[in-house]
Amino acid sequence: MHIIGCPSAISGAFDLAVVGAGIIGLSCARAAALKGLRVVVIDRDAQSNGASVRNFGFVTVTGQERGTAWIRARRTCAIWEEVAQQAGIPILQRGLWMTTRRPEAVPILEAFLATEMGEGCKLLSRAAAKGCCPELVNAQVQAVLLSSVDLRVESREAIPKIAAWLAERWGVQFLRQTAVLSVAPPLLETSRGVVQAGAVVVCPGDDVYSLYPKRIARYGMTRCKLQMLRLADPGFRLPNAVMSDLGLVRYAGYSALAEAATLRARLEAEQGEHLRHGIHLIVVQSADGSLIVGDSHHYAATPDCFADEHIDQLILDEFTAATGRPPPAVRERWIGTYSAAPDRTMFIDAPACDVRIVMITSGSGASTGFAIGEEVVTDLFGGVQVNGYTRSLRSGHL
Ligand SMILES: Cc1cc2nc3c(=O)[nH]c(=O)nc-3n(C[C@H](O)[C@H](O)[C@H](O)COP(=O)(O)OP(=O)(O)OC[C@H]3O[C@@H](n4cnc5c(N)ncnc54)[C@H](O)[C@@H]3O)c2cc1C
Repeated sequence: MHIIGCPSAISGAFDLAVVGAGIIGLSCARAAALKGLRVVVIDRDAQSNGASVRNFGFVTVTGQERGTAWIRARRTCAIWEEVAQQAGIPILQRGLWMTTRRPEAVPILEAFLATEMGEGCKLLSRAAAKGCCPELVNAQVQAVLLSSVDLRVESREAIPKIAAWLAERWGVQFLRQTAVLSVAPPLLETSRGVVQAGAVVVCPGDDVYSLYPKRIARYGMTRCKLQMLRLADPGFRLPNAVMSDLGLVRYAGYSALAEAATLRARLEAEQGEHLRHGIHLIVVQSADGSLIVGDSHHYAATPDCFADEHIDQLILDEFTAATGRPPPAVRERWIGTYSAAPDRTMFIDAPACDVRIVMITSGSGASTGFAIGEEVVTDLFGGVQVNGYTRSLRSGHL
C-alpha cells in the first residue's frame, strides 16, 4: 500500500476496507473487527459530519416497519447497549412517550399493542400519564403509548467515541481526510494513494454520485432534507423521547395498520400543511437538559442548504400542541440530509463478489445500522458465495 503522509502503522493489506465513517460504516467495521479481521475505515472528512451526527440519536424500535426493520432495530438496540457500555457512551434516555390528543389515535395504539411490536409497551390513560409526568399531560391528551424498548444517545459525542473504541480496542485503522476515488479489490484508489483490501463495503451516506453511480441510480435515489432545532432546558426532565399524533401516520409500524386511515383523514383536514412538509414531532433531551426537536422532510436531488423559519415555526407549533407548553428559547438550528428511495428503507447491493454498497434510504440508520453491519459482514465473510448477485430489501423485507 502507498499512502502518502500516513503513519507507517498503516501498512500492508487489509481484509476489509470500509468507505465512510458514519454509523453504517462503523457498524460494518465493528462486525468485521469482532470476527478478527483487519479493517481500515476511510473517510474524506476529518471527523464525522454527515447524518450520523446530525440526527436525534434516537435508537427507535417502537414504530419501525413491521418485519425485518423492526427485528433489526431490536438487534441494533441490544448492540448499542453493549457498545455504549464498552465505549463509555452515556445512554441519556430510554423508551418512548407517544402522546396523542385525538380520539382517532387510540385505536391505532390498541391495534399496535395487539401485535408482536407491542412487546415492552403499554397504554396509559390521561390520569395514569399525569401521574408519570404532570408537565407533559394537559386536558387534550387522550392516551399515551409508553414504550421501554428504545434508547437515546448524543450522536455528536457517540459517533467519535465508537470510532475511538474501534481503533483502540479492536485495532481498526482510520484514514481520515481521504476520498476514495475508485474501488476494485484488492485495490482502492484514494486521494492519498492506493489501499489494498480483500473486500470493500461502500457506506457513502447520501453521496450517490462518487462511487458506483450507475448501480446506485437503479434504486431511483433522491435526497431528503430535514430541519432540526435545539431548545433551552425546559426546567424538567422528559420521561422518555416524545412523539405525537403526526408520528402515527409517518412511522410504518403504526401507519400500515388499518386503524391509521381515520387519523390520517383528520390530520389532512386539520394539519395539512404539516403533512405537506413531512413534519412530525420528536423531542429528546440532552445531558444539560436542552431539547433536540424536529423534524421536516423535503425531497430533491440536491436539497437547498437553507433552514426555512416557517418550517421551524410549524415544528414548534406541534411542540406546543403536543406538550401544552410554549417552546423554550432556540439555541441551535441545523439541517441534515439522508439518501431516500421511493420504495425501500435501505439496500445492500453487490456490484462484485467482494464489494457491497450499503445505503439507508430512510431516517433509520442509527436504529438499524449495527444489525445491518453484522449481516453485511456475514454475507461477505461467512462463507456465502455471492457472485454478481444483488441482494436488496424492498420495504424492509428480503
Ligand atoms: C436530521 C436527521 C435526523 C435523524 N434522526 C434519526 C434518528 O433519530 N434515528 C435514526 O435511526 N436515524 C435517524 N436519522 C437517519 C440516520 O442518521 C442515517 O440513516 C444514518 O446516519 C446514515 O448513516 P451513514 O453512515 O450511511 O451516512 P453518513 O453519516 O452520511 O456517513 C457517510 C460518510 O461517508 C463518507 N463518504 C462518502 N463518500 C465517500 C468517499 N467517496 N470517500 C470517502 N468518504 C466518503 C462521508 O464523508 C460520510 O462521513 C436521521 C437523519 C437526519 C439527517
